[in-house]
Amino acid sequence: MYEPYPVPDLARDHKKFRYSSLWNFAKQDLKLLFFFLLIGGLVGYGMGYLASCLLAAFAFFLFLQLRSLYLVNEWISNRPYDVPPNLNGIWGALLFNVYRSQRQERVVQADMVGLIDRAQSSLVALAEAVVLTDELNQIEWANPAAEKLLGIQYLDRGRNLLSILRQPRFIEYFNDIDKSPDGIKIKSSINDEHYVQIKLTPFGSDSHLLVAYDVTRMQNLEQMRKDFVDNISHELRTPLTVLSGYVETFIDQEDINPRWKRAFEQMQSQTRRMNALVNDLLLLSRLENDKQIAKNQIIDMPSLMNQLFDDAQAYNVDYGHTLNLNIDSHYDLIGSDMEIASAFSNLITNAIKYTPRGGIISIGWYDDQDHGYFMVEDNGIGIDPKHLPRLTERFYRVDSARSRQSGGTGLGLAIVKHVLMQHGAHLEVDSIENKGSTFKAVFPKQHLYCVDHAD
Ligand code: ADP
Repeated sequence: MYEPYPVPDLARDHKKFRYSSLWNFAKQDLKLLFFFLLIGGLVGYGMGYLASCLLAAFAFFLFLQLRSLYLVNEWISNRPYDVPPNLNGIWGALLFNVYRSQRQERVVQADMVGLIDRAQSSLVALAEAVVLTDELNQIEWANPAAEKLLGIQYLDRGRNLLSILRQPRFIEYFNDIDKSPDGIKIKSSINDEHYVQIKLTPFGSDSHLLVAYDVTRMQNLEQMRKDFVDNISHELRTPLTVLSGYVETFIDQEDINPRWKRAFEQMQSQTRRMNALVNDLLLLSRLENDKQIAKNQIIDMPSLMNQLFDDAQAYNVDYGHTLNLNIDSHYDLIGSDMEIASAFSNLITNAIKYTPRGGIISIGWYDDQDHGYFMVEDNGIGIDPKHLPRLTERFYRVDSARSRQSGGTGLGLAIVKHVLMQHGAHLEVDSIENKGSTFKAVFPKQHLYCVDHAD
């Protein structure tokens, strides 16, 4: 467990410190006064000037007290850290107590300064950039790594953080930290080839702690993986087209030996599967690279839904399900029509594939003013809840044999997830084994477009 470094407790140390009783020293002063008055009284009595001698004795006592007061004041004002002048009586006690309490505080202060120094030097030694900003987003402190990773220099103290880290993604993140709880990855502002992961933590009243670290290596490895999948999928395309072309030509031969025909039919179904796999891999890689995707098209939802419904009916011929279509929203979607159609179509074909013959499948588009919902409901084989968290992973299948047999690539839901992410949407799945499943794509209001402009 994390043990915080012990911070000196001023109040507790203060209580431990016990002040000497002033009364004991006051008694010394009273004794001295009594002594002066006694001497003055005796001398005055002997000389016949009792009153004058008593007054002179009192005046002398007063003079000594004023001198002590002067020395105390002079020490406090000019040399409070030196050893105090040696005084007797109440002033001496006062001085001693002030001096002792001051020394005590200096020890506590030194402890605090030591602690701050240690914390600061460990932050300075960190390879991660650490930046503190105040309520006005001005930089209060930054370690040397902040200069290397983010270009924030010592002289930037007092400058607004957003005037230095000006990437729109960072500004968007700064204004809504909760949206990306793990922080964001951006290009380093001082080296275009470097990537930094930035995480902001609010503290105090609107201050922020920024921590950033270099993720270039991870980013490069990730990019290498994406490029590899992308390249290999492209490379596979040409040989696959040639193969499937020949296979189709052979199958179409009228005088083909029935034994060969069966073999060619199997080759055809496998090349089709491979084609589907390659196409899905290419689509996924395009989605991941965020390239060539126009996310601002207005997608005519009634037309898209009808198109998907027609395709579903064509696909359903072998399954004989009852298909229903419900459109209960005036909203269209803003996004990329190709990708959205592909994601929705994956959800529909899954419902058809994973429902035993003669099932009921409902496809719907509706809204609740704040969100738009694309929903596919089936009464098919359903999914054990333990599989739900991993369902959108690539090649994750509940039942691999069944998926392959139905021509699945294992990438359908991964594509759905990526397409939805690109549109600020997410997937909700409800399923009961042997009863059926409901897949719901939930779109935020920003991606909805009111057709009759009533909104
Ligand atoms: P696949 O190509 O195997 O269908 P998907 O990524 O589309 O790959 O789906 C992943 C897995 O989720 C499937 O293999 C299947 O087990 C399960 N699944 C998807 N949709 C449904 C559904 N409507 N009913 C039951 N299981 C489903």
